[in-house]
Amino acid sequence: MGLVVQKYGGSSVADAEGIKRVAKRIVDAKKSGHRVVVVVSAMGDTTDELIDLAQQVSPIPAGREFDMLLTAGERISMALLAMAIKNLGHEAQSFTGSQAGVITDSVHNKARIIDVTPGRIRTALDEGNIAIVAGFQGVSQDKKDITTLGRGGSDTTAVALAAALEAEVCEIYTDVDGVFTADPRVVKKARKINRISFEDMLELASSGSKVLLHRCVEYARRYNIPIHVRSSFSGLPGTWVSNEPQGNQPMEQAIISGVAHDTSEAKVTVVGVPDKPGEAATIFRAIADAQINIDMVVQNVSAASTGLTDISFTLPKTEGRKAIQALEQTKEAIGFESLRYDDQIAKISLVGAGMKTNPGVTAGFFEALANAGVNIELISTSEIRISVVTRADDVGEAVRAVHSAFGLDSESDEAVVYGGTGR
Ligand code: ADP
Ligand code: ASP
Ligand code: MG
Repeated sequence: MGLVVQKYGGSSVADAEGIKRVAKRIVDAKKSGHRVVVVVSAMGDTTDELIDLAQQVSPIPAGREFDMLLTAGERISMALLAMAIKNLGHEAQSFTGSQAGVITDSVHNKARIIDVTPGRIRTALDEGNIAIVAGFQGVSQDKKDITTLGRGGSDTTAVALAAALEAEVCEIYTDVDGVFTADPRVVKKARKINRISFEDMLELASSGSKVLLHRCVEYARRYNIPIHVRSSFSGLPGTWVSNEPQGNQPMEQAIISGVAHDTSEAKVTVVGVPDKPGEAATIFRAIADAQINIDMVVQNVSAASTGLTDISFTLPKTEGRKAIQALEQTKEAIGFESLRYDDQIAKISLVGAGMKTNPGVTAGFFEALANAGVNIELISTSEIRISVVTRADDVGEAVRAVHSAFGLDSESDEAVVYGGTGR
């Protein structure tokens, strides 16, 4: 039997009981003859708690120190998990990201993996160990500083190790039974998807379905690593993400794969921008130079009387302060009037490859929102996705309305959420 990489998220190892439960599962995989590499996240909401703590001592914490702090969370869970496995009579060794050979660039808080050299992991496996790796972290190639991969980054660690070690599968264990047609915390009637293509999963993930991180799906697609998303709390089969049939699961031919929502973004509006060439370029250059990724962009028609226009864009809330600071510095060069910052927004997206060939999807989406009394503030589309920005307060109702309108509600059991706080 081959090598498997298993990743356990924070909700699966939230307390000592959780760690012992997971340790048993890992030992079972080893007993069935697999070579087992485990990637583990920080316990429960540890990462959020560490972030809160950092912000109490500094509003914009220094990137290098922030990463040093956050990686402590995964070091705690990796060591405890190795202890729990040893307590069951099996050999295990834990490794930090750096020890496991996860080499990254040096962009703190959202580093990219540029190489994986898991020599020590191979040796540990050859010696009969279960290898436990701290997720979400690496070491920068040039400065040899500790880095983190961005929130949810343990998913990426798992797939990157699976690719480097040529694993037969990367199993992502979480607190729900797989990937659903919407977040089961929001839509009780969400349906579990048995099998989904990399493309559709990529679009769901980048639209906010945090059950898998989009970078991890990108990585899996590039190296063709099948991902099996499943619950660590049940024995049920989960969702296969791949481009080939897996585990006897036929490809689902749905027009719509699901509805995603994201409340982690904020909207910045640059008010009163002179409507002439080069202004948008200056604004977005300032944002790019601050290493901030943006999502949607909308420019209004300029008012004929003033020749001024407004430009709005969305970005992660965590980058809000940095963006405002960067834009303030261009105020004179651009000559805009003011900046507005709004973090009470939500993005709702409808995703599905069948959209390309089925007219009326956009109309149906907007009608569902209108019937639910939800106002649309921004719109953006890709070939297989439509996204809108609404008020954050409307998000639950909007997602449920769209989910029903596209016939995605299940008739059977309600989707189970086994753990986690949804934070
Ligand atoms: P972990 O701690 O295992 O990394 P996460 O909280 O990152 O878990 O991801 C699992 C959560 O993702 C679920 O509890 C669920 O609330 C949320 N989620 C969002 N969209 C979906 C979806 N389409 N299918 C399943 N879960 C989803
Ligand atoms: N602990 C990190 C986070 O909460 C990484 C992860 O869980 O994937 O974002
Ligand atoms: Mg996660």
